[in-house]
Amino acid sequence: MQIQTKEFDIIIIGGGPIGIACALEAKKRELSYVILEKGCLVNSIYHYPTNMTFFSTSEKLELDNIPFISTNPKPHKAEALEYYRRITTSNELNIHLFEKVSSVETLDNKLHKVTTTKAEYTAKNVIVATGFYDIPNYLSIEGENLPKVSHYYNDPHYFATQKTIVVGASNSAVDAALEIYRKGGDVTMIVREDAIGERVKYWVRPDIINRIEEGSIRAYFSSELKEITEKDVLINTADGEIRQENDFVILLTGYRPNFDFLKSMGISLSEDEKRIPTYNENTMETNIPGIYLAGVICGGMETHKWFIENSRIHAKMILDDIAKNK
Ligand SMILES: Cc1cc2nc3c(=O)[nH]c(=O)nc-3n(C[C@H](O)[C@H](O)[C@H](O)COP(=O)(O)OP(=O)(O)OC[C@H]3O[C@@H](n4cnc5c(N)ncnc54)[C@H](O)[C@@H]3O)c2cc1C
Repeated sequence: MQIQTKEFDIIIIGGGPIGIACALEAKKRELSYVILEKGCLVNSIYHYPTNMTFFSTSEKLELDNIPFISTNPKPHKAEALEYYRRITTSNELNIHLFEKVSSVETLDNKLHKVTTTKAEYTAKNVIVATGFYDIPNYLSIEGENLPKVSHYYNDPHYFATQKTIVVGASNSAVDAALEIYRKGGDVTMIVREDAIGERVKYWVRPDIINRIEEGSIRAYFSSELKEITEKDVLINTADGEIRQENDFVILLTGYRPNFDFLKSMGISLSEDEKRIPTYNENTMETNIPGIYLAGVICGGMETHKWFIENSRIHAKMILDDIAKNK
């Protein structure tokens, strides 16, 4: 059976906040577009921890000046889901959910062929807004694939009364450690650095430091996890190796963009460890004409550089450029 190819001015890959911002700008300019999202709407945020609170105030998470009303100084995950969902539905944005893009190929006529799990499309312009939350930074140690190990944290109740190891000292790790401790889990943190990260939310940092100092949460600083077995873990601490019995291991060591996906489209990356994709800082166009980057993916391995607050502007920059060239 022959697949019917659908044609658009713009294909937006990724239905996160920044993909949605791009769709709003495309709609304003009366350009045809579709967002292709491999999971549910704002899939990354949907998979954040249940009790997660944003570090940004709500107005800084707004798209296209559409008010984000929250009764809290910093909105919660559930409110953000509500906000981005209402924007999408009330603006009748053209979005296909649960449709993963598997390849983007530039054809001789400068059109881009986008192939998904469900269909084939062509477009003059492609915006890649795929974020970085899909691929964890693996430790590559023995036992990392055991069922008791996870690279994502969701809800503390599951860990009540359980001996739980949390690896990392960033916001995600600190939130997980505090929540699990408060729901009756026995928490041990393993931290590569010699202190809790400076980027930890300023109102949370004293809490974790005090819990560690009073001994409610155990923490090994300047330490690394070496091996995970069914029953215990091997930790390389500042005072030598120790084994500790445990039930669950949560590895919150960060995430990285899908570099192979970018490279498969022909987008080049910096050769240093930052692996920053090539793009024009004024237009967000990559080294492949007609392919643009938007949102947190632009930072390469520097995943703290871009967030919603400072990358929502990419949408207008890109659409200004596309409209100009049209
Ligand atoms: C715990 C946590 C707290 C945060 N707090 C804040 C905050 O307070 N303020 C702030 O500004 N930022 C915050 N951030 C960062 C913010 O959530 C992200 O910056 C934001 O989600 C980025 O938006 P994005 O649209 O660029 O990427 P994402 O939201 O990650 O969206 C990318 C989308 O692309 C989809 N996708 C990926 N590959 C494909 C494919 N091949 N085909 C189709 N779809 C694909 C994904 O499913 C995903 O839905 C936080 C992040 C975390 C992890």
